[in-house]
Amino acid sequence: MPSTVFWGSPRQTVIGPEETLPAKLDLILQKLNLRERVKGETVAIKMHTGNNIITSTIHPVFVRKVVKAVKEGGGKPFVTDLNWDAAGAEERGYSSETIGCPVYPASGPEEKYFYTHKRDFKNMKEWKVAGLIQDATFLINLSHIKGHPSCGFGGAFKNIALGCMVGETRSAMHDTVHFDKYWFADKCPDEAVRKKIIDSCPVGALVVDRKDPRELHLHTEPCMQCGRCLKVAPAGSLKIDPVNFLAFQEACAISTAITLSTFAPGKVTYISLATQMTPVCDCFGFTGMSILPDAGIFGSDDIVAIDRAALDCVAKLKLIDENMTASLRKFLWPDGHPFTRMHGPMKDPYKVTEYGEALGLGSRNYELVDVLPVDENAPPSRWFISAS
Ligand code: SF4
Repeated sequence: MPSTVFWGSPRQTVIGPEETLPAKLDLILQKLNLRERVKGETVAIKMHTGNNIITSTIHPVFVRKVVKAVKEGGGKPFVTDLNWDAAGAEERGYSSETIGCPVYPASGPEEKYFYTHKRDFKNMKEWKVAGLIQDATFLINLSHIKGHPSCGFGGAFKNIALGCMVGETRSAMHDTVHFDKYWFADKCPDEAVRKKIIDSCPVGALVVDRKDPRELHLHTEPCMQCGRCLKVAPAGSLKIDPVNFLAFQEACAISTAITLSTFAPGKVTYISLATQMTPVCDCFGFTGMSILPDAGIFGSDDIVAIDRAALDCVAKLKLIDENMTASLRKFLWPDGHPFTRMHGPMKDPYKVTEYGEALGLGSRNYELVDVLPVDENAPPSRWFISAS
C-alpha cells in the first residue's frame, strides 16, 4: 500500500488568503492529526534556521502555525537546530515572540550534549545524536527543499541526517566521500602533469593534498563531473566515480535511521516546504534568486515518500534561466532532474530515498493527495483585502 503524502500546491484558483501555502499548511496539519498526537509530548521541531543573512529558510509564519498546533494539542514544543545556527536564529526572525516557543541548540551551546551510537560505515564508527533530539518524545521534521552541492538536494533526510548530529559526526559524514580511493599517485609521478590536471578543472575542485604533494584531493561539492580532468590525467591515475559521491547520501540515510530509532513508532512526522529554492544548502548563509518556481508544501509520516514526492514535483519544473548565476548556467548538464543538471549526475538526489527505503525507513511508493485542488473551471472573481 502506498504511503500518503499530503500536498499543498503553490497554485491558487483565485487570489485570496484561503489558498495560500500557510492556509494549506493548516489543512495538512489537520490531515496529519498533529493535535491529536502530541498531548503530553515533548516536541522537538527540527528546522534549519540558516545563518548569516539568509532569507529563504522557512518563514516564521509557517513555524508559528506548527508551534500553535502543538500547543493546542497539549504538547510542549521547542524549535531546535545546530548550535551555530540556533545562536543567530533571532536575527533571521525566529524568536519566542515570533514563533511562539524557544529556539534551542540541539546539542547545547558547545555541542557537548549528545548520545553516542555505534555503527560502522566507511570511515565512521560512532554517530553522536544531539541530546535534545534524543530526549524529545516527538519529532516534527520541518524542512526546506533546496539544491545541495554534496548530494544534489536537501530535504527531509538532510534536515535530520546532518541537523541532528554534532559537528564531529557531520564532518566525518562529509569525509565518507574520500574513503574509496580515487587518486593513484604512482600512476602520475610527474608534478607538471599533476598541475595540468588541477588546472583543467574549471571550478577548482581538485587541489594538492595538504599533507602530501604527490596526492590530489577532490572537493566533491563543486565537482559537477564534467570529465575535463580525466582527459588530462594519465590512465589509471584518477577516478571520478559514483562511489565517492554516493557515500555521503548513504551516510545521510544511516544517520537518519539512527536518529529515528530513538523515537517510538508514530512519534515522528514530516513537513517540507519547497519554496524559494536555491542551488545550495541553507547553511551557506545567503539567499540568491530562486532557481525554480515554487513546488508547494508537503506533509507525511513517511520520510522516504515525502522526499520522493517533493523531488518528483520539482522534476516537473524548469530551471529559471534568468535567475541562475553565470557560473551555474555555464556548467549546467543538458538534461535530467533540475538538481542533477546543476550538481551532476553522480549526485542523483533520489539515491537517499533508495538507501532510506532499504533501511526500512519508508516507501518510495506514495500517493500524492492535494489538500485543496485548483478549480480550473471556477468563475472569474474579483479580489479584495479582507478586514478580518
Ligand atoms: S570532473 Fe570536472 S568538475 Fe569534477 S574535478 Fe574533474 S574537471 Fe573538475
